[in-house]
Amino acid sequence: MILIVDDKQENLIALGKTLESRGFEIDTALSGEDALKKLLRNDYELIILDVQMPGMDGFEVAEAVSGYRRTSDIPIIFLSAVNVSKEFITKGYASGGRDYLVKPFDTDILVLKIKTFVKLNNIQRSLQLEIERRIVAENKKDEFISIASHELNTPLTSIKGYIQLAGNALERKNIDQTRMFLDRSQKQVTKLNRLVGDLLDTTKIQSGKLQFNFQYFDFGTFLINAVENIQHSFPDKSLRIKAPDISNIRVFGDENRLEQVVQNYLSNAIKYGPEGKEVVIEVLLLPDGKVHVNVIDEGIGISAERQHQLFEKFYRVEENSNRFQGLGMGLYICAEIVKRHKGTYGVVSEPEKGSTFYFCIPINPAISELN
Ligand code: ADP
Repeated sequence: MILIVDDKQENLIALGKTLESRGFEIDTALSGEDALKKLLRNDYELIILDVQMPGMDGFEVAEAVSGYRRTSDIPIIFLSAVNVSKEFITKGYASGGRDYLVKPFDTDILVLKIKTFVKLNNIQRSLQLEIERRIVAENKKDEFISIASHELNTPLTSIKGYIQLAGNALERKNIDQTRMFLDRSQKQVTKLNRLVGDLLDTTKIQSGKLQFNFQYFDFGTFLINAVENIQHSFPDKSLRIKAPDISNIRVFGDENRLEQVVQNYLSNAIKYGPEGKEVVIEVLLLPDGKVHVNVIDEGIGISAERQHQLFEKFYRVEENSNRFQGLGMGLYICAEIVKRHKGTYGVVSEPEKGSTFYFCIPINPAISELN
């Protein structure tokens, strides 16, 4: 929208009509003060400003406009019938104007100038936004590298320590201790392996190269295996499957990738849930040919305003980021995997009560839609 400022009603009507007939959206102000009020309320692409006005003149309006952050980028074209001297024109540019036209002016030229200024301004705005976006991304990347190095270093340091302890125990010929320390280092290797795997998957998603191997698999067996694998890492945690008869359900999908989703939901439910509380894996068969999986915990929960960001890359709930280790890649990868199965995912959660993370995929998706 273009704002025309002139103290003479007839000028506003004449120029307004001309510009409207050329497809521009127009707003008008009868004084500098009125213009400033409007500028604070609305967004304008350009201002056409009469120089000679009682009260605030055009130059004063332009100075005020360039002083506000919200309005400083709006191009201004001055129109003047009286002040045509070089001194006034110079003042016009100095106060923030982009152009200074002297009445009578050629309407076609004015229209061309408006179009050019609006276009240039849009380019400048999108460049500005792009620069800001890149600065944010760059900072996020730096932060990520520092967290990632720390996350990778922690298991590595433990592995180094356990191997040393295992070596000492072996020298003492204490086989039980040797085995215990090797087992512990094995767990840290698994952790490291998962972290590196997640890092690789994240990079592949970004470059569109995350590979999928779609085929029919038995959903019941798949679910039991996925849960057992996690149970193995957390033997003390109670994990309960609640499902109807799914013994004959054969899903067309990538079993390994879907196992990643179940394992991620489960390890989060364990990580962010209190000790001693069970985690329930609930399966629902929906009438529209979909299988819906809920992973329900009674953990710390997530506030409503954080929930919609959880599945974004590297997102971690800030309040908890010091208490729990993590890189914020797990749910991002889950989201990508479910999307590629033409499914839906999400979370229902209440702080201090717990969370239900779910995904829902078609049992028999249209194969042509999968990629
Ligand atoms: P990570 O756990 O490595 O930080 P995720 O992508 O798996 O990364 O999870 C992103 C964020 O979502 C976590 O940092 C955590 O704040 C929140 N979150 C995930 N699962 C749960 C859960 N079951 N309960 C509470 N918060 C959760």
